Amino acid sequence: MSNDLDFAYRLYYDYSNYAEQNLTHKRFRHSDILPLINNLIKSKIFSVAEAGRSVMGREIFLIKAGWGDTKIFLWSQMHGDESTATMAIFDLFNFFMFSDGFNDFKNNLFARTTIYFMPMVNPDGAELFQRRNIFDIDLNRDFVQLQSPEAKILKDTFEKIKPDFGFNLHDQSKLYSAGHNFKPATLSFLAPPIDEENTIDNVRAISMKLIGKIFNTMSSFIPGHIAKYNDEYEPRAFGDNFQKLGASTILIESGGWNDDPEKQFIRKLNFISLLSAFKYIEEGSFANEPLETYESIPVNQKDLLDVVLRNLKIRKNGFEYFIDIGIIKNEFMDPASSKYFVKSSIEEIGDLSVYFGYEDIDLSGMEILPGKTFPEEFLSIDEVENLDFNSLHLKGYTNVLLNDKRFSLSYSPFPVNIITNKSLYSDEIKIEKAANMIITKDSVVTYVIINGFLIETAVRSEKRINGMVY
Ligand SMILES: [Zn+2]
Repeated sequence: MSNDLDFAYRLYYDYSNYAEQNLTHKRFRHSDILPLINNLIKSKIFSVAEAGRSVMGREIFLIKAGWGDTKIFLWSQMHGDESTATMAIFDLFNFFMFSDGFNDFKNNLFARTTIYFMPMVNPDGAELFQRRNIFDIDLNRDFVQLQSPEAKILKDTFEKIKPDFGFNLHDQSKLYSAGHNFKPATLSFLAPPIDEENTIDNVRAISMKLIGKIFNTMSSFIPGHIAKYNDEYEPRAFGDNFQKLGASTILIESGGWNDDPEKQFIRKLNFISLLSAFKYIEEGSFANEPLETYESIPVNQKDLLDVVLRNLKIRKNGFEYFIDIGIIKNEFMDPASSKYFVKSSIEEIGDLSVYFGYEDIDLSGMEILPGKTFPEEFLSIDEVENLDFNSLHLKGYTNVLLNDKRFSLSYSPFPVNIITNKSLYSDEIKIEKAANMIITKDSVVTYVIINGFLIETAVRSEKRINGMVY
């Protein structure tokens, strides 16, 4: 095994030693990182400074490690709901604090480089798990006008450090695939352009070579799941401008991975990617990577949907025809419980041969029909909770009627939709409508779809499913 792969595999297998245990899901807040920052202050390895404060007065920190000449600057979560790399940065801090078999690597790295970290550039956005800052400004489109203090802090810090390398750390939609492919783009990279003409100067060529090397290494963990982000020049963005100002900049976008809604596996991939990048910078080994490697990385495509149901017969308005149905699932917060739930809708109907689904199933020979509502009204949510859902599903019921004033959730915690107001519910199979349907074969219900969740009626599923309330 090559030296690069050996290093990456050791990180992969030892990762649990470093994973920051206080960050376990993607919706952590500024108050969750404060105690972790305090630990860094106590450590001799880091120097911690307040770089400035957000609109709402939350500290934005700059953490420095090493004393070498080559300067590396990483910043994460300019978009408040893009937290994967922030988690990985706290894993990196643990990696640097522990004494272990990587000590030689760390000593060499700190002798050759100085690394600056600015995790959670947008703490006010993180608080609300929203992209923009509290002014509703997209920080990554505020490089020129600098109307948000967070953007100004990032730019001022960059100008003070004058880094040789920049790592611009984001998350992208889970619906991107790596090329026209069924494989989600779990990681996407970009050497941001410096002009409309897509010029490759020396600074940008270095980013491209470094990405090529990271691509080679990470492809052995997630083959086919790495893409190149759209390279259209954006004059208002930080990555493009930092690259132009002379820092070889690398954009890393954390995308989707099957069954990883909290992005914990992708966090680990970030950890390995970043440490590998540090290694290649420290050794200077990126210089030998041909630009062709970067060029060969497939481009991000929006070819994915959460669920694709194929080749279904449907009967509507006296017509009978065949369709594919594509469903997307989005996450929302329930105001009553502050819990997150999934709300699905039908995104596409027709020939979906150019799309792929995380769940993708050929249902040839089967028919799709609207889900049915159980005729009897229930007077308490406890009665609903005690239902035998599997037998409801087998009869084609996807919904129940409830008349219980104490029930205040905006979602159903059960694998059934709850209708409290009949006028709010439509059972039509239509674009942008809720995905509640049944699938039959020879008049037997083989699948039900409750709020986009596909349930095989013959199997008792342990899937975590939530219905909706109408
Ligand atoms: Zn972003």
